[in-house]
Amino acid sequence: MRVAGTLRLQPGRDRSLQRRHPWVFSGAVDRVDGDPAPGANVLVRAHDGTELGWAAYSPESQIWARMWTFDPTERPDAALVAGRVAAAAGRRDALLGSGDTDSARLVFSEADGVPGLVADRYGDTVVCQLTTAGAEAWSEVLADALAALPGVRCVHERSDADVRSREGLAPRTGTLRGPAPSPDLVAHERGFRFVVDAEGGHKTGFYLDQRDSRRAVEYWAADRRVLNVFSYTGAFSVIAAARGAHSVLSIDSSGPALEAARRSGALNSVDVGDLMEADTFTALRGLRDRARQFDLVLLDPPKLAANDRQVDKASRAYKDLNLLALKLLAPGGALMTWSCSGAVSADLFQKIVAGAAVDAGRTARIVDRLHQPGDHPVPLAFPEAEYLKGLVLEVE
Ligand code: SAH
Repeated sequence: MRVAGTLRLQPGRDRSLQRRHPWVFSGAVDRVDGDPAPGANVLVRAHDGTELGWAAYSPESQIWARMWTFDPTERPDAALVAGRVAAAAGRRDALLGSGDTDSARLVFSEADGVPGLVADRYGDTVVCQLTTAGAEAWSEVLADALAALPGVRCVHERSDADVRSREGLAPRTGTLRGPAPSPDLVAHERGFRFVVDAEGGHKTGFYLDQRDSRRAVEYWAADRRVLNVFSYTGAFSVIAAARGAHSVLSIDSSGPALEAARRSGALNSVDVGDLMEADTFTALRGLRDRARQFDLVLLDPPKLAANDRQVDKASRAYKDLNLLALKLLAPGGALMTWSCSGAVSADLFQKIVAGAAVDAGRTARIVDRLHQPGDHPVPLAFPEAEYLKGLVLEVE
């Protein structure tokens, strides 16, 4: 492939790339030479002309280029891109071979050296999202690489995330290779079976990133009155019910998600409990006004801060939610609370929850911390990959 263009950086702006951070922001660029198309390979040079490596050009995004390689002699081509996918999938072999599960995130974007590609495997089905111009340019190669993985029968695309618009890309969904995903698709995990709605569900259909948290819920649920707030398809609820919860109430604003929760209950031969289709803020206030009490509250809201500018507003929402949840806890109860906003650090999240406890007049102790699992890795050079954190609190 010929050189489509060259980005020359402002003086001093090569520092983060020297540390192998993969993003080039628009403000760091001094000059674009050539006329690179969105997604094309561009050679990135320091101000003094030193070649720093090759990146995918994304002129519509704040992030103008995402590095494919820090080796200027290694040209990004189909072999490199396909090799990255195969290597990333190979790093999940231990997890998928453990017998614990048949479902894992195979490729986690920059964290696996494939900027803009998320690929989640559920048994023989891969559901992928392409979110950047660079990934878009290689979409056929990516689809072939995913379809070539051992045991994969179907590759389905769910490129309908909002972030695509920031790259000037229209939403797109559909089956790329093999048959359409089965309507009976499930994720198997430590004896449980969870409904995966690959075509209509959130993201790729299931929250693989809460795998370690699901194990924690298994530990905490027995004999408790459980409230699962933002339940989605009820994975936590099924586990709680199966592990001897006294009762389970799930709240979500999505009717189809709650319907999937009912199906997941049946698949696991448990009564998944009460399902409430409602807005959380209203529902929690209603439970408080009726003086309902629970012994375990699970609070896993959607991403409330999409970027740094939204952190203050999101912090207030996290505090409100945690305050309401703490008020519903019986003495000696436990709160499991998460934030999946990358812009809200683990430190800040703990401070927000601490503030909520003060306002609720409750004394609480952290007894466990929860994280995204290892198939959602965090490169040392790219800490932005870390987004999910949770606290388990025992409340007096
Ligand atoms: N804990 C779930 C994932 C939760 S994702 C799991 O492990 O599978 C967040 C959920 O919040 C989604 O299902 C979404 O439908 C729901 N949601 C978003 N805003 C909401 C609101 N205001 N009230 C109730 N539910 C909401």
